[in-house]
Amino acid sequence: MTEQGPAYTPAQQRVIDVIGRSAGRADLPDSLANELRAELDEALQPVLELLPDGKSYENRFFLNKNALSNVHSCEAFYVGGQGEFEWNIANSRGTIVHKAVEVSAHTRGDIFPSDLIEETIARLSNDSSKNISEFLVTLDEFGRAELVAECSSLLTRFFEGFPPIKKQWHPQTESAMTLNLANNRVRVQGKVDLALGRPPDKVIIDLKTGNAFGAHRDDLRLYALIDLLAIGHAPRKVASYYIDSAEIHAEDITEGTLRAACRRLAVGLVRAIELKLGNAEPVRRPGNNCRWCTLLDSCDEGQAYIAQRNEEEGW
Ligand code: SF4
Repeated sequence: MTEQGPAYTPAQQRVIDVIGRSAGRADLPDSLANELRAELDEALQPVLELLPDGKSYENRFFLNKNALSNVHSCEAFYVGGQGEFEWNIANSRGTIVHKAVEVSAHTRGDIFPSDLIEETIARLSNDSSKNISEFLVTLDEFGRAELVAECSSLLTRFFEGFPPIKKQWHPQTESAMTLNLANNRVRVQGKVDLALGRPPDKVIIDLKTGNAFGAHRDDLRLYALIDLLAIGHAPRKVASYYIDSAEIHAEDITEGTLRAACRRLAVGLVRAIELKLGNAEPVRRPGNNCRWCTLLDSCDEGQAYIAQRNEEEGW
């Protein structure tokens, strides 16, 4: 009788079924990358004169997935409604768990989730180049224990639902991606939580610690577009993996999804430049962002939206 390895949990098997190689890939025209880059260059023509010269790293216009999503949702929020970012237990969980997943993909032997989380928090606390360290070092014993407990259960959940990552899958974790446009005067950047497989068989995966939102799909399409334009191959698939529910929402990357991502980037990028560098009047579009927008007290549209939501949902 031969010895069998540990069987996958049904949730792990589901992930393999959804994003595994047998799922196939769409054919893409060879000319697509050049066409889409030309489309972006053309869209930027009317705002070139607003852009910094790009001669140094700081002298560029930066855009990431959150900024692109915000400019498409509410322009006033994008320009001035976000307030200062502050770390707390809730928003630090994702960073810590992502780091622990990254390390676990390259760790030899079994390691307890709580040990990995303890070590991750200790390392992040001592890394002054990471701004989360300022928050972590100020936690009292209770706060630290609370954070370790929450992150450990999330990491355990991840191990239960996501298949153990093999080195043969060429895992890339927390890997930065960049698209330079307009002669380096524009930099679109992102960070992929997890990528498995080698181009053109790559699958890009965002790990999520909250609920599913439509914007998650847009973020992933943007990453697929950046990969196509930066390295010449789009990923085969993109997927959001929701740790709490062990659900995976995947999408095949096709010519249509890449063209849609390119249009969304072109429109949002041009508008972001007009708003930040050309003093264009921002349009207010009430939505989910109203709940944490610093402009809410003085925004009639936002208050009307919140009042309506309160009535409909009792929040
Ligand atoms: S409250 Fe809502 S509509 Fe008003 S600026 Fe903020 S996000 Fe936009």
